[in-house]
Amino acid sequence: MKADPFKIPSNQAGFYIHIPFCLSKCGYCSFYSIKSVNLIPEYIAALKKEIKGYSKLFKTFDTIYLGGGTPSLLSTGQLETIFNTINKSHNIDPHAEITMEVNPGDVSLKYFQALRSLGINRLNIGVQSFDDNILRFLGRRHNSAEAVSAINDSRKAGFDNVGIDLIYGVHGQKIPLWKKTIQQALSYTPEHISCYQLSLEAGTPLHKEYALQGINLPAEKEQLKFFQTTADELENAGYIHYEVSNFARKDKFKSLHNQKYWQHVPYLGLGPAAHSFLNNKRWWNKAAVKTYLQEIAAGEMPVENTETLSVEQLQLEALFLGLRTKAGIDLERYKTKYGVDLLVDKKTIIDALIKNNLVEFKNGFLRPTRAGMAVADSLALI
Ligand code: SF4
Repeated sequence: MKADPFKIPSNQAGFYIHIPFCLSKCGYCSFYSIKSVNLIPEYIAALKKEIKGYSKLFKTFDTIYLGGGTPSLLSTGQLETIFNTINKSHNIDPHAEITMEVNPGDVSLKYFQALRSLGINRLNIGVQSFDDNILRFLGRRHNSAEAVSAINDSRKAGFDNVGIDLIYGVHGQKIPLWKKTIQQALSYTPEHISCYQLSLEAGTPLHKEYALQGINLPAEKEQLKFFQTTADELENAGYIHYEVSNFARKDKFKSLHNQKYWQHVPYLGLGPAAHSFLNNKRWWNKAAVKTYLQEIAAGEMPVENTETLSVEQLQLEALFLGLRTKAGIDLERYKTKYGVDLLVDKKTIIDALIKNNLVEFKNGFLRPTRAGMAVADSLALI
């Protein structure tokens, strides 16, 4: 029987661990991380306490995701400590998807082999580009040769679920160069590809650099061309464009962990700035590593704030997130969960979107068309 692509894949929770350290800061990055890697041992000790502190709240987890920052700065011994603590204090499904983000400059065949033996079964490699000029411009620590060798080594170590992250819309990167990058990525037949449009976040070095040099991000029309090229190249190669920025080689290679964020499935996020969600509550940790360490040392949970989401907030989020995914919104499920019949409540706007070929209504689902996905952020404003 064919898998139902619209089915919520799992109701078990997701476990996220944030590793907030980077050896240098990439020019475009606004994620929270610090360069003081000497704090890593103290950080692991604090993380262990935080992991244990949540041992009773969630029933079971079927995903673990190590993100950052740069998780691949951790030694295999440090990773082992984290996994041992998780496994002792929480119920982890024996078939859990266990993902780790890795930076091409940090890894080796031996390191990948050790990751496999720790039970990590999915990798996200932060390639970003196969062009050395683009990588330099973005302020990445690695070069193209290191990216290629990281991919090859991951395969040699036996990883059969490998994702590659790429960035487009960089100054000097024209469509033919972007196509070349995609084609090179495809030559490694990764199970997953994420393609992110470069954005200039205030306060980042690249934001200042663009202003200083008087250069801009590609105009809207050009951005759309990048988006369409991406979707065309990857769909022609058989990939499923299942979310605005995400492509999977098969259904089973869609990120189970990320789908939890999009479908209001519970998740626990540990480490500075990490967010958690359970029932209608969301809470998040303080961002500064030093505060995080101090509070854990004082026997407190380093929670910055908690919010209880109203049904209205939840339904708006579900609408916003649902229209970013190819599966779209199951209108019957939406009505049961949030008490809103979208076809009645938003009839005028939905009719207009359908007329403009931005969304379609099919088999009980409201879902974005390719053109709708390209403008997903504004679709959410309905
Ligand atoms: S490695 Fe990742 S988290 Fe660290 S600065 Fe670069 S983009 Fe940001």
